[in-house]
Amino acid sequence: MRAGIGYDVHRLTEGRKLVLGGVEIPYVKGLAAHSDGDVIAHAIGDAILGASGLGDLGVYFPPNDPRYEGISSMIILKEIKEMVEKRNFKIDYIDVMLVLEEPKVSSYISQMKSRIAEALDLDVTRISVKATTNEGLGFVGRKEGVGAMAVCLLKEPAM
Ligand code: MG
Repeated sequence: MRAGIGYDVHRLTEGRKLVLGGVEIPYVKGLAAHSDGDVIAHAIGDAILGASGLGDLGVYFPPNDPRYEGISSMIILKEIKEMVEKRNFKIDYIDVMLVLEEPKVSSYISQMKSRIAEALDLDVTRISVKATTNEGLGFVGRKEGVGAMAVCLLKEPAM
């Protein structure tokens, strides 16, 4: 088994949709990005790539690549899953910690888990998504941005 870690932050800005874990959540602001700015998906993608030793998200999905302009980050997750499966790795478990001050996301967690499980073709019991506030501290506390951390366990190919 291998472990990988992922981390992402995007800035909250007006005139954008807030998409977290593949789910659109009603809010006055959304995340500024080249893609949909889904910090959960990006943290997961980096965790999977980290566990597989394939580098980081920016290598495969550069922010200046027109192919990824405005796309759902669930597509990025699907592509990463295919990359690691081609090398005979198998995603075993993913745990996510979302850090945001607003809005309340507890009622969207199970939907996020379903969307992520669908993108990665995993049973939903292999995905965990949790959320916390930053207690009003720092850029998250000032509602300037949203962060997410993820850990992935990956099964190595059988020798
Ligand atoms: Mg990102």
